[in-house]
Amino acid sequence: MIAENLAILRQKIEETCKKAGRNSADIRIIAVSKYFGVDSILEAKKCGLTDFGENRAQELVLKFERLQNEVIWHFIGTLQKNKVKYVVNSAELIHSVDSVELVEEINKRAEKIEKVQKILLEIKTSGEETKSGLETEIEILNLVKKCSELKNIKLTGLMTMAPLTDDVNIIRKSFRDLRNLKNKINNKGYNLTELSMGMTSDFEIAIEEGATMIRIGSAIFGDRDYSKDWRQI
Ligand SMILES: *Cc1c(COP(=O)(O)O)cnc(C)c1O
Repeated sequence: MIAENLAILRQKIEETCKKAGRNSADIRIIAVSKYFGVDSILEAKKCGLTDFGENRAQELVLKFERLQNEVIWHFIGTLQKNKVKYVVNSAELIHSVDSVELVEEINKRAEKIEKVQKILLEIKTSGEETKSGLETEIEILNLVKKCSELKNIKLTGLMTMAPLTDDVNIIRKSFRDLRNLKNKINNKGYNLTELSMGMTSDFEIAIEEGATMIRIGSAIFGDRDYSKDWRQI
């Protein structure tokens, strides 16, 4: 099933890129494997996927113990300070950084294992209370500056989640806002390259608006079974 799902997904990506005048080689698929076991991850790897995203530190740790660096790990969920060390130990890129406190802890933990941790800042473009992320421009610019001062942090871009709505214009605006913000930051002398935006329901719009990483779960693995005990993976 994963192979077929992926064939469909890749075709949609190709078509969208063609329409948008983009090269699909510039878009990395982050396969969001939360709630799916290592067997599914290995099957997806056989189909050519290299990058996998998890949103809970404990689940990432468990899968990392099994697979180590057989795949590239991304952390995309809300990060608690006391879990930072586990995530730094396993993730190539942390997409969901949204506070000075977190950045400092990541820097500290990365320094301990002599790693330069790549991160993205999570931006709340939706205005939704339930979503995390930075909102005000001052706050964002301060954090960008802070990152540039820390030796074991490499800030490479921004991440967002679009609001939960069927209104395509609202979703598009959220992605466009993220792109504009990246440009604004780069105009101040920084060099952010990544835009992590777009999921199963809205990746086409995200690609049109400049996504360099799309985070896709159900379109690859199928529907998640939230009643399943994830420790049984
Ligand atoms: C679960 C999740 C995704 C993927 O969601 P799908 O709708 O299954 O593609 C993407 N980003 C984040 C932050 C997630 O938690």
